[in-house]
Amino acid sequence: MSNETNKQKLTTASGRPYFENENTMSVGPRGPLLLQDYILHEKMAHFNRERIPERVVHAKGSGAFGTFTVTDDITQYTKAKLFNQVGKQTRVFLRFSTVGGEKGSADTERDPRGFALKFYTEDGNWDLVGNNTPIFFIKDPKKFGDFIHTQKRDPRTNCKSATMMWDFWALNPESLHQVLLLMSDRGTPYSYRHLNGYGSHTFSLINQKNERVYVKFHFKTQQGIKNFTDAEAGEVRGKDPDHAQRDLVEAIDRGDFPRWAMKIQVMTEEQARTSPFNPFDVTKVWPHGDYPLVDVGILELNEVPSNYFADVEQAAFAPAHLVDGIGFSPDKMLQGRLLSYPDAHRYRLGANYEQIPVNRCPFAVNNYQRDGQMRIDGNGGSAPNYWPNSFDNITADESYKEPAQTLESTLADWYDRNGPGENDHYTQPGQFYSKVLSDVDRVHLVQNIVNSMKGIDGPRKQDIVNRQLCHFFRANIQLGLAVAQGLGTDISSFMPMANQQPA
Ligand code: NDP
Repeated sequence: MSNETNKQKLTTASGRPYFENENTMSVGPRGPLLLQDYILHEKMAHFNRERIPERVVHAKGSGAFGTFTVTDDITQYTKAKLFNQVGKQTRVFLRFSTVGGEKGSADTERDPRGFALKFYTEDGNWDLVGNNTPIFFIKDPKKFGDFIHTQKRDPRTNCKSATMMWDFWALNPESLHQVLLLMSDRGTPYSYRHLNGYGSHTFSLINQKNERVYVKFHFKTQQGIKNFTDAEAGEVRGKDPDHAQRDLVEAIDRGDFPRWAMKIQVMTEEQARTSPFNPFDVTKVWPHGDYPLVDVGILELNEVPSNYFADVEQAAFAPAHLVDGIGFSPDKMLQGRLLSYPDAHRYRLGANYEQIPVNRCPFAVNNYQRDGQMRIDGNGGSAPNYWPNSFDNITADESYKEPAQTLESTLADWYDRNGPGENDHYTQPGQFYSKVLSDVDRVHLVQNIVNSMKGIDGPRKQDIVNRQLCHFFRANIQLGLAVAQGLGTDISSFMPMANQQPA
């Protein structure tokens, strides 16, 4: 075919070919414009509507398609079809993000990183919507909106506020564990390729015999952990705010496909009942010594979406989207997210957000949901739109029935939060500081905390500082001392508090 035949005609959105795309129809060459030049209206009106609501959290992100390959057999734990054969491959989409910043914010901000995965499985899409931290700041979804407000802008100054952040953290000791991870150099990862991903919540796995175990999902970077120091992150923030986006695209484009090893930790229902800490509390990890990592597979990213808006901006993940063989747990934050994520997508993208190609299940979708804005999949055609009916052959397959879950209590008791292990907010943060961090990591952690806490101001400054110092002291005396010294705070009043730290 010649180039002449290949030529595409310029058209309006409704397909009408037209010629003049730069000069608006006017009365004479200098005259006012004519209302009838509707091509001008179409161009301006569509441009005005290019932005969709920004995600309230995780607004700045990068994404890529890839493949998940099973390397080890975990069928003793799960009947999920994506795991049913060693060597089996499933297409995935992974979106990384920062959390607190706006869509134009810098990639190197000190912040957790979102690690949201969509597996396009034959039994439907499975979304594992995690972070680069195995834990979270709060353990109850009722606190989520308040917490996120403290990570955003002060209502009066419209600036980020260390006072708001530390005030909330100081008043919520459960956040200490995640605050330490955030303030360590892992709070400023070098790129999205050099961080671990975690499902963070506790989930269930259910096998062919309908037996349930609880699990945590881990994705260990095969590129190695690499972080910026606080100073380096600040420098890159100014020089290249899109550093992580650029790094991901360039790596995949040159064929250097990033990989993560997927692993699980497994806990039996009996172990969950007798655990000294609440295994459904997302501010706690499961110690590897008691719950070792089990190899599952390799995740590889190998395709940059050809259009950022289409696939990355419109990507919608929901922890509610599980597949047969994977179930929920009583993790309160997970339960809250089951509602909030689809709700956010319906607001941001519309009721039919699951028909957008990046979100669409590539296998059969059969139900009786109809109509709504932007219904673009044929809307079920002339098939029945109600259930049950005598006409179609859609059946509810009993083999997908989830087994009953044993729950501990029949009391609707939401004030008593003092059960065993519920309020120990210090043991695991203390272990993180004393056993996991290297000497250099500890120096950087303290310096990063001090740099951040120096931003606290206003009439309640000393209350907030003192309250937060108590938490550091209770986790580890050396940590408390080092931060207090860095802030130039008199430590004498903290010594009784420090003595309360767990053995
Ligand atoms: P382990 O020594 O068995 O594991 C420590 C974990 O910490 C490893 O997963 C390690 O994996 C990760 N880690 C190492 N350096 C850092 C760092 N600078 N920042 C964050 N994570 C790091 O100990 P336990 O399982 O008994 O856990 C002890 C503490 O380790 C926990 O209280 C928690 O704070 C932290 N941790 C635990 C995890 C878990 O799932 N058990 C996961 C991550 C952190 P890697 O270097 O590959 O990330």
